Amino acid sequence: MSEILVLVEHVDGEVKKVTLELLTLAKSLGSPSAVWAGPGLTDAATAKLAEYGADKVYNASSQEIVDYVVAPKAELLAQLVSEKSPAGVLVAATAEGKEIAGRLAVKTDSGVITDAVGLSDGFVADQSIFGGGVNVKSKVAKGTPIVAVRPNSTAPVAAAGAGAVEEVAVTVSDAAKAARVVDRVKQEKGARPELTEAAIVVSGGRGVGSADNFSVIEGLADALGAAVGASRAATDAGWYPHQFQVGQTGKTVSPQLYIAAGISGAIQHRAGMQTAKTIIAINKDPEAPIFELADYGIVGDLHQVVPQLTQEVSNRK
Ligand code: FAD
Repeated sequence: MSEILVLVEHVDGEVKKVTLELLTLAKSLGSPSAVWAGPGLTDAATAKLAEYGADKVYNASSQEIVDYVVAPKAELLAQLVSEKSPAGVLVAATAEGKEIAGRLAVKTDSGVITDAVGLSDGFVADQSIFGGGVNVKSKVAKGTPIVAVRPNSTAPVAAAGAGAVEEVAVTVSDAAKAARVVDRVKQEKGARPELTEAAIVVSGGRGVGSADNFSVIEGLADALGAAVGASRAATDAGWYPHQFQVGQTGKTVSPQLYIAAGISGAIQHRAGMQTAKTIIAINKDPEAPIFELADYGIVGDLHQVVPQLTQEVSNRK
């Protein structure tokens, strides 16, 4: 079966959910090989990768891979592409993943597709473009197909793989050492789930009105065990931190339930949340475009509706 390389996203030795999604896609096309870049591969991480279909785990444990910004990871993948001639390479369509994909494409003289939301036989990618307004099917016509897949576009499915670990020695070139990581500061995670991995997301927009008012959104999120998101209008106004922005220039989420409060539903916002399974919109304007997308709509002032919802959810616990 043809080998497909999957670059593992990991934090503190833990495999991120997007990697399990990529392994699931790779499994549907061939034999997935997970590529672990940097130190820290544990037996538990290997077991997790195997549980989701990885037949091989390439362990490139050199510290140098993570000491420099992005470029060494592209070099590692280029080395594996040349040694193993895989049928394709999958990376997460995160900011880092897309940069790696682009660099890898140049190094291997191959085509690259970013922001894929699905992948079928023959490495045909479903791509969401123009802020999610148009879906196209694309296929790499040259070299090894490199596809950056959006987080949350596929549900991870367990599928036993062999999980055979193979050590990979890498020599990071001087060119790849052009930008060094000088510090890493962990973001306070808090009690809420990570935005891109949450099953429920409650987002607030300009209609929330102020930074202080975001406590209303947080209250509902906490009652539901959800993550908090925000529109760009809210993050640009400084009401909520930018890392919580949902949309074309923010995060892509695909939760079971997305609640949009005081958000009009601009195409750039929809690009980041339109694949949510169920969408509830709360907006005082019955003509707001978000209602075209919503499964359930509540026309009303969010400052009245959201606290009532929070109360109702709390009462049912
Ligand atoms: P508005 O469009 O102003 O909507 C506010 C809504 O709140 C209105 O519908 C109003 O009826 C409602 N409202 C007001 N008060 C209340 C109340 N008390 N109760 C209930 N409802 C109320 N946007 C993103 O979100 N994410 C992105 O990643 C993103 N990327 C962009 C990239 C580019 C290149 C560009 C050009 C734009 C981008 N935008 C993005 C901005 C986008 O075009 C919109 O401007 C933005 O999404 C609007 O945010 P909003 O819905 O919160 O605000």
